[in-house]
Amino acid sequence: MCKVIAIANQKGGVGKTTTAVNLGVGIANAGKKVLMIDADPQGSLTISMGFQEPDKLTDTLFNIITMVANDEDMEYGYGILHLDKVDLIPANIELSTAEISLSSALCRESILKSYIEEIRPDYDYIVIDCMPSLGMLTVNALTCADSVLIPVQAAYLPVKGLQQLIKTIHAVKRQLNKSLKIEGILLTMVDGRTTYAKDIVSQVNEVYGRNMPVFPIEIPLSVRASETSAAAKSIYDYDPKGKAANAYEALTKEVLANGSN
Ligand code: ADP
Ligand code: MG
Repeated sequence: MCKVIAIANQKGGVGKTTTAVNLGVGIANAGKKVLMIDADPQGSLTISMGFQEPDKLTDTLFNIITMVANDEDMEYGYGILHLDKVDLIPANIELSTAEISLSSALCRESILKSYIEEIRPDYDYIVIDCMPSLGMLTVNALTCADSVLIPVQAAYLPVKGLQQLIKTIHAVKRQLNKSLKIEGILLTMVDGRTTYAKDIVSQVNEVYGRNMPVFPIEIPLSVRASETSAAAKSIYDYDPKGKAANAYEALTKEVLANGSN
């Protein structure tokens, strides 16, 4: 059974894309069939997967969403790129106009879901890299997901912003996707040398840990990790022995242990 995991947080720069890449590739390294979906018009996931100029791509998530929203016929597997380890549905700046076509579409919250339901049998895991907003695209991702993984940067403001995200997740769960689960909160860019980062980690565990899972693994602050997207490599290929690779490997194991559906 395929499991769909949305990586979401309306705050930018918290490690969503880095986590999507290294979780997706990590799961693929474990022998599973993985599809990654770039649901951010900035196309960072697309760039990280080796497409330096996403705006030159013609078949992207934008086309898929527009076709489904307009009830147009689509070739099976349209828009899916087959890369070395994973498959990818790329995105580029065009996706920023999809919110508009979505807002007038019938069943606008479940456009992505109706597409994913068709291709689900082809994969063990589908990982969606969400954009930094709680708009219609992110709601679409949450509506088709089995679980949501929330990267949180170990800093004061991002931790505060979590409340709004959790509210949205609860609203989607109530109205659109009853079986949506929280895979876990993942602390990222943790600078283990500072007591400040340690305070944030214990604060997140204290405030949220009672009501939802917080991963026991933290992603350390790592210059090597920050270089991976420009290098278009996963952390396992870029710095396999480093602390970030270790952490993402452990995260992958944890997510696989959480089971499929
Ligand atoms: P988001 O998708 O939430 O905007 P990104 O994954 O793009 O976040 O990360 C934001 C920035 O932080 C990027 O420049 C990225 O390379 C860097 N980064 C991500 N993870 C780490 C890490 N563990 N340590 C240091 N820098 C990181
Ligand atoms: Mg991103």
